[in-house]
Amino acid sequence: MQKHYHIIIVGGGPAGLYFANKCQNSGLDYLLIEASDTFGGQLPRLYPEKDIVDIKGIDVIKAKDYASKLANNLKKEKVLLNTKVVDIIPGDKIEVKTSALSFSCDYLIIATGLGSSTPRPLGVDHEFEVKNIVYKLDDYSQLKDKRIAIFGGGDSALDWAKHLSKISNNVSLIHRRLEFRGNADTIKDCHNLAVYLPYVPDHIDVEKNKATSITIREVVEEGKTPKFIAIPVDLILVNYGNIAEATNFNFEKDGSFLKVNSTTYSIAKNIFAIGDVASYENKKRRIQPSIEEADAVFNIID
Ligand SMILES: Cc1cc2nc3c(=O)[nH]c(=O)nc-3n(C[C@H](O)[C@H](O)[C@H](O)COP(=O)(O)OP(=O)(O)OC[C@H]3O[C@@H](n4cnc5c(N)ncnc54)[C@H](O)[C@@H]3O)c2cc1C
Repeated sequence: MQKHYHIIIVGGGPAGLYFANKCQNSGLDYLLIEASDTFGGQLPRLYPEKDIVDIKGIDVIKAKDYASKLANNLKKEKVLLNTKVVDIIPGDKIEVKTSALSFSCDYLIIATGLGSSTPRPLGVDHEFEVKNIVYKLDDYSQLKDKRIAIFGGGDSALDWAKHLSKISNNVSLIHRRLEFRGNADTIKDCHNLAVYLPYVPDHIDVEKNKATSITIREVVEEGKTPKFIAIPVDLILVNYGNIAEATNFNFEKDGSFLKVNSTTYSIAKNIFAIGDVASYENKKRRIQPSIEEADAVFNIID
């Protein structure tokens, strides 16, 4: 049977999380649905270490800490991770569909921000069958002295290379160009880091669902013979960024955003959009405006 909630919030970035906290603090019946495996939206994904200084009432807080502060207050049974909403059907009872489940609610808050995103894959055979190819690291306490191959040339790849080469002497950084896209100074003091430029992944050797080594291929001009190097690994960390997929619900749009009423933030009967996904004149895509939008909507439906 379709489960009914008073309020459903779609998207667990700062806007959706803030709204869910308001529901939780007021004892309202709600469900928060987030497409990815982490709460916080752009904050942990795009700028986890940045100090945020422009949220009213908070002097300074790291982006990832703000996201977890909001997420940690929520009760586990009130949230769904790894669940993407694929369709919304307005009506007296609003229907919210994911690929496997269907819910209904009295009020719907869409807080899908810049949309959902999935990590860009490494592009080798068996990539999704092995357990030791990962796209982010929440914890690197278990990685002391492990053999780690990091792929990517942006700031995240360079940051990981710097951190991980402090706990292991067996870290390789592989990038497809001769120059990094991120700030190469990050790794200038990492004397034990093996850097391979310009190389791309060629194939992995697999044993018992684990990649045991990855062979990389030199990027050369046409007609020249590339070098191949096999790197033994315990872990492969891929930092190729994300493939973004914009919100595609059937409401009036402004590009990939949803057009809302600029004072009530509504888009249909009992359906509201807040945060980055909401579009109105002079809209600012920052956290503080999304808090103000959430407060306004909460006052309407409470
Ligand atoms: C580099 C950078 C630095 C920034 N610095 C600041 C700053 O210092 N201060 C500031 O105020 N703002 C800053 N911003 C802007 C701020 O990050 C955004 O305004 C804020 O993240 C918007 O929050 P949101 O919840 O609306 O959207 P998002 O953060 O985009 O979160 C949306 C969430 O919805 C989920 N989602 C999407 N589609 C679905 C679906 N169909 N089903 C379920 N879930 C879905 C996504 O997975 C995501 O978790 C910065 C942005 C960037 C890129």
